[in-house]
Amino acid sequence: MKVLIQKFGGTSVSTKERRTRVVEKVKKAIEDGFMPVVVVSAMGRKGEPYATDTLLSLIDNEFKNTNLQSADLLLSCGEIISSVIMSNELFDSNIKALPLTGGQAGIITNENFGDAEILEVKTDNITKILRDGIVPVVTGFQGCTDKGCFTTLGRGASDFTAAVLGVALKAKEIQIYTDVDGIMTADPRIVKSANLIDTISYNEVFQFADQGAKVIHPRAVEVAMRGNIPLVIKNTMSESKGTLINSIGDEKSNSILTGITHMGNRVQINILRQNNKDNENVDKLLDILAENHVSLDLINIFPRQQVFTIDNKDFKQVDDIMKKLNIIYESISNCSKLSIIGSRMKGIPGVMAKILKSLKDENIEVLQTADSHTTIWCLIYSDSIEKAINVIHKSFMP
Ligand code: ADP
Ligand code: MG
Repeated sequence: MKVLIQKFGGTSVSTKERRTRVVEKVKKAIEDGFMPVVVVSAMGRKGEPYATDTLLSLIDNEFKNTNLQSADLLLSCGEIISSVIMSNELFDSNIKALPLTGGQAGIITNENFGDAEILEVKTDNITKILRDGIVPVVTGFQGCTDKGCFTTLGRGASDFTAAVLGVALKAKEIQIYTDVDGIMTADPRIVKSANLIDTISYNEVFQFADQGAKVIHPRAVEVAMRGNIPLVIKNTMSESKGTLINSIGDEKSNSILTGITHMGNRVQINILRQNNKDNENVDKLLDILAENHVSLDLINIFPRQQVFTIDNKDFKQVDDIMKKLNIIYESISNCSKLSIIGSRMKGIPGVMAKILKSLKDENIEVLQTADSHTTIWCLIYSDSIEKAINVIHKSFMP
């Protein structure tokens, strides 16, 4: 079986005109001898009638947080609507299609509603449908427990569904269709002159996705990499070749940086030893935060000081823990973490210096930095993030 996964994001299925382009892509895949498996997200983005956020706003927070199973049932509706409408469009173009829920597509999960883990992918049903010459139109972002309850797989997880099915069905390729031409050197909404990346390795794109570039879900990259199945990011509305993601990446490229991305809603926490004399809790703090599942990054420990950042959503919990431990600390909210990624920057001197100089020349204050073989991080105030990304992009990729 020559299976091809074609995943279409929320904007790609949001209007009749766009769905017509989706049908063309499916038709072309069939003409090229593939058996396409279509995966769809809910239609539209925040604010639009059937988008996931709109559905979520129909119930109140307290109910949602205490009835996760019910919330998942509601959240699953967006993709169900989308898969039926897409099947209708395919039917109108004489392509036999069948909408399938995550469970019907064989995605079996545990009962961790809201962020369920996939336990198994049963391929018999979908394989039979494919053999019958029918195009399965699978709802992204969802699975099903062995008792038949609908579960969701975490936000942005339709890409993950596509990758999981791609590996389970040993697809030739996993195509992710969206509203940009592929992976660019920066979010094209922020940097107008961002360049399209032709080929990139799983590892680099994982860094990109994990550090905030929402063009592809990091878990999808991880799954495709493990199955060694090529991932291609393409634009539903154009014929652009897109970005190919594989294990090799672009061997010919000599550019130091691959790209720039960022993550907002960061809060920097700063604990000075002199303000916490004789408080032994300071040394236990990282353990206690870990036990409470608070995720930290940019952790710097000095004899006189501890600094780290957290997500804003965890701030209240961290503040409660600090109060309980009598730890005096300072915080800076409204921060963003800038990630400058490039597998070729290791061993090249002066990259950090050049970044810091570019930011300083534009009066952008840097609150903290960190670096690894492939990434340099700078924490800055969120109100200067777009300017910072543009400045660095211009100095490395003029
Ligand atoms: P979909 O609904 O199709 O899944 P997403 O909104 O999840 O689409 O992802 C596509 C968006 O990702 C683009 O509209 C773009 O603004 C954003 N994006 C962020 N960083 C990048 C990048 N480096 N390259 C391309 N797009 C990016
Ligand atoms: Mg997406």
